[in-house]
Amino acid sequence: LTSLVWLRDDLRLDDNPALSEAAHLGVPMTVVYVLDEESDGVRALGGASRWWLHHSLAALSADLEAKGSRLVLRRGKAADVISSLAAQTHAGHLFWNRRYGGPERDIDAGLKEWAAGNGIEAFSFQANLLFEPWTIRTGAGGPYKVYSPFWRACLAAGDIRDPFDVPQDLPEPASSGRGLPASDSLGSWKLLPTSPDWSGGLADTWVPGEKGALDRLTDFLDGPIEDYGTGRNIPGTEGTSRLSPYLRFGEVSPFRVWREIRRRHPRQVPADVGIFRSELGWREFNWHLLYHNPELATRSFRPDFEKFEWGSLSRQELAAWQQGQTGYPLVDAGMRQLWQTGWMHNRVRMAAASFLVKNLLTDWRVGEQWFWDTLVDADAANNPANWQWVAGSGADASPYYRIFNPVTQSKKFDAGGDYLRRFIPEIAGLEGKAIHEPWTAELESYPQPLVELPESRERALDAYQKLKDS
Ligand code: FAD
Repeated sequence: LTSLVWLRDDLRLDDNPALSEAAHLGVPMTVVYVLDEESDGVRALGGASRWWLHHSLAALSADLEAKGSRLVLRRGKAADVISSLAAQTHAGHLFWNRRYGGPERDIDAGLKEWAAGNGIEAFSFQANLLFEPWTIRTGAGGPYKVYSPFWRACLAAGDIRDPFDVPQDLPEPASSGRGLPASDSLGSWKLLPTSPDWSGGLADTWVPGEKGALDRLTDFLDGPIEDYGTGRNIPGTEGTSRLSPYLRFGEVSPFRVWREIRRRHPRQVPADVGIFRSELGWREFNWHLLYHNPELATRSFRPDFEKFEWGSLSRQELAAWQQGQTGYPLVDAGMRQLWQTGWMHNRVRMAAASFLVKNLLTDWRVGEQWFWDTLVDADAANNPANWQWVAGSGADASPYYRIFNPVTQSKKFDAGGDYLRRFIPEIAGLEGKAIHEPWTAELESYPQPLVELPESRERALDAYQKLKDS
């Protein structure tokens, strides 16, 4: 009998319990990744995520080969692919690390049942969240809806396990009667954009894969984390970890991040490090929300928001927001950073999202979908939960009437205009306050504001009042 390891959002050798436990068995092993675009309810990856996935799988494949193993790539309905591959390779054991989205859980539960009925032992492991969503419960026994008590409950829940080390050697690849099971070629999946190829900025910015993740983690822990409390708010500097796409694809495990922090701070965690850990807590919280509310991406968490009367945004206005042509420099710099690099600084994400949902009175799902398509860290829990946080419709959301003013935010967090200059060359020559209010300079190359801030703010507050009155 052989073993079958199905990798999903855990594209790493380090701290990969499914892989480590399978390797421990010592029998021939198949490692497979399935591109599933067919199963019911599974959300198709956005363009930037497809780019990332391609490079991540290429890196993983090389890492597995260096250990004497290989990565089998298959496209299709996951349940069908896994069951037929298991039969083909005479698998007696099936291993995976858990997923937490609704459709994904259904697929996994179905496969466990299938395995049990076919004499195959299926093992699943906790690898991608520090706290299993069903283990953290309020006093009344339900899931949490507020972040702070959730995170306190997590921290009180007990020790976080140590990461699994990278297995020394991996068992030889399992064969299927007639040699090794076939693998698709990565290129045949066409995950990379071709005409046009918009991925140059992504390639300049990122090194997908496990090595890139661990290098990033080390660089961050060696420096910026010490000033994270302040640095994380300054979009013009590299004050945050930029680990988000690596965590999204599981190229680094949260257990490894946690362990590295503890190794450096065995006794007391400095305040800035604690703030960083609490951001990891937001990731845990959003996955807790998604686990308990599988429709987070399509339905407002607060049901009354389903009656919100959104305005009607024209295609040109939407395009202006998407392309960074709103006339508000902070919003535009953020949207251009997103398009060029597949990532946007968190403070700017909040301002750009608030501008769309409130100043342009647009349904949060419109923005969520754009981010889903363009972010390399587009994440099934973090993206909708954060959009709903900004929109005021989420669990523990920012109150609706908190409307970010992009000019005030820009003056406060990018006072010298470094970030604005980097992404908006048209205004790079403006000095002092003018860079935050370029309309005062009457430039021809940069648009006038798409809407006036005070008026659009009033309109948003009126719409909210109407919802409250209804
Ligand atoms: P750091 O500041 O270094 O934080 C470390 C890690 O903590 C991050 O990598 C991330 O995993 C987690 N984290 C930090 N902030 C948050 C947060 N607010 N919510 C949840 N987890 C957080 N994050 C995503 O990972 N995927 C998304 O699709 C996503 N969409 C967002 C959409 C909007 C409208 C907003 C306002 C925020 C969104 N975020 C999303 C959260 C946050 O902006 C990013 O996680 C963060 O900017 C990633 O950069 P970093 O890795 O340098 O973060």
